[in-house]
Amino acid sequence: KADGEKGGYRFYTTSLNKQLEERFRLEQDLRQGLERNELVVFYQPRVHMGSGRILSLEALVRWNHPEFGLIPPGRFIPVAESTGLILGIGPVVLEKVCEQIHQWQRAGLTTVPVAINLSTQELYKKNLARNIASMVRAADIPPNMLEFEITESTAMRSMGEAITILTQLWEAGFSLSIDDFGTGYASMSYLSNLPVQGLKIDRSFVAQLNRESDSRRPGATIVKAMIGLGHNLDLGVIAEGVEHPAQQTFLLENGCHMGQGFLFSQPLPPSEMEPLLRIGAIW
Ligand code: C2E
Ligand code: CA
Ligand code: CA
Ligand code: CA
Repeated sequence: KADGEKGGYRFYTTSLNKQLEERFRLEQDLRQGLERNELVVFYQPRVHMGSGRILSLEALVRWNHPEFGLIPPGRFIPVAESTGLILGIGPVVLEKVCEQIHQWQRAGLTTVPVAINLSTQELYKKNLARNIASMVRAADIPPNMLEFEITESTAMRSMGEAITILTQLWEAGFSLSIDDFGTGYASMSYLSNLPVQGLKIDRSFVAQLNRESDSRRPGATIVKAMIGLGHNLDLGVIAEGVEHPAQQTFLLENGCHMGQGFLFSQPLPPSEMEPLLRIGAIW
């Protein structure tokens, strides 16, 4: 009796259970992966778009899963954020980056600063600045070799606190930038109060500068305004997600010289980053 209903119910519970199960499995696997040292850090250059010179790198974590291969951060960072596991991942990434900088220095490569992403949970964790500073000191890396990126929405979560914590990081000698700028609705007065030195225009805006970059298009107007805002606040402006030469041309014509994106390089494992560091430029 009421087979359909029963099936319907079962289907519902199955799919809900399945979701929870998958999430639970991911969390457990990730915890284990962390213990088994399965996280790897890739690096993507930020280039001076006029000359191709490499100015700095962004560290981007991947999970080298024994069964599924390289898993992108979008698939596990959000879960790590909501389970608190991110508080174990952050220090591992920082340690790997410090070790990598040392290795590159030993190999005689010109080293450039490396930017590390900080998630919301990490930023507001007690003693963040002190913990980072002591890890970096223990690793014997000068703080000016490291930069931290926080998204605009992370900075908006608790404004007064964000200012305090960012000030501590800045006083410890680290550079700071606002990531995904334009997606978090920060006011200009708030931005001007943040002790940051850089601003990264979110790639959704750069994507609106299409191939025939008609500078009257609304997307183009917005990007121009963002570049102007950054420069008025005396910030270094980096365009994210530069994929086409026309975007590069538009950005350069409008005073934005720093870019990051597939046009210049994908995020690369250290071994593939090395030849580029040896030259110090992308072309
Ligand atoms: P994000 O900080 O905005 O990083 C930029 C993302 O854009 C990277 O994705 C990068 O591979 C991608 N990207 C770069 N150039 C282009 C381009 O030209 N076109 C397109 N379509 N995409 C481009 P990825 O590596 O998958 O990282 C995704 C997000 O995961 C990052 O976004 C960041 O929020 C987070 N994440 C990565 N590594 C870490 C980490 O170590 N800690 C934390 N807390 N978050 C991380
Ligand atoms: Ca970032
Ligand atoms: Ca970003
Ligand atoms: Ca992002």
